[in-house]
Amino acid sequence: MTTVETRALVDIPDDLLPRILLPPLEVLPDARARGAECVWGGEPLSTATAVDLGERETDSGHWFPRACRPCTRRVVLAARNDHSGRCEQCTDDATICETRRALHVLVLELRR
Ligand SMILES: [Zn+2]
Ligand SMILES: [Zn+2]
Repeated sequence: MTTVETRALVDIPDDLLPRILLPPLEVLPDARARGAECVWGGEPLSTATAVDLGERETDSGHWFPRACRPCTRRVVLAARNDHSGRCEQCTDDATICETRRALHVLVLELRR
């Protein structure tokens, strides 16, 4: 089966990946751990819609989690809100914080 890709894949910058908190690998069903299903919601993923969450290290080895867009957007949004509360730069002047801007751009990208 071939699917025509109509949307650009969302590419999460490496330095933002650690800010995206994942459920612990030990509690996940096999399909979510393998990246066949969304790591948060368990929705089936296709190459055209899946968001790559990078390579993660765990005690049991390397892990390549993937997720659907709505779940990723929710988590990135939470990361952005959480960031604002603890970043000195954001308390001072949020408009010049690179991290906040990068998270915000990612939220917008995931809305498409
Ligand atoms: Zn999902
Ligand atoms: Zn900040």
